[in-house]
Amino acid sequence: MENDGFIVIEGIHKNPNNIDTLDESSKIVHGPYNKKKASELAKTLNQKNIDNFYHRAWVVNKDIQTDNICEECKKEDASVKQNLIMHSYKICNSCNLAKTIFPL
Ligand SMILES: [Zn+2]
Repeated sequence: MENDGFIVIEGIHKNPNNIDTLDESSKIVHGPYNKKKASELAKTLNQKNIDNFYHRAWVVNKDIQTDNICEECKKEDASVKQNLIMHSYKICNSCNLAKTIFPL
């Protein structure tokens, strides 16, 4: 279902601004939900854990879970997932940089 493609991942992070630093042993996955429900749940979880700086919940398109392949260079890179969440581009950091310098 197109509308059911979102999961919420919560857990403890080394860097709460980077989902890739999530501690796997603390990871809890909720869903899948539609985007609205997922956003609401993530917000609730973040508010509930507001005292813990390292705890964070993310809304993630569940397709991202299995795929870290950059659309530009077709290489697998951990930064692809992060860039997709942050900027909605399925791209690795090196291609992202190249694109910034040489726009298409
Ligand atoms: Zn790339």
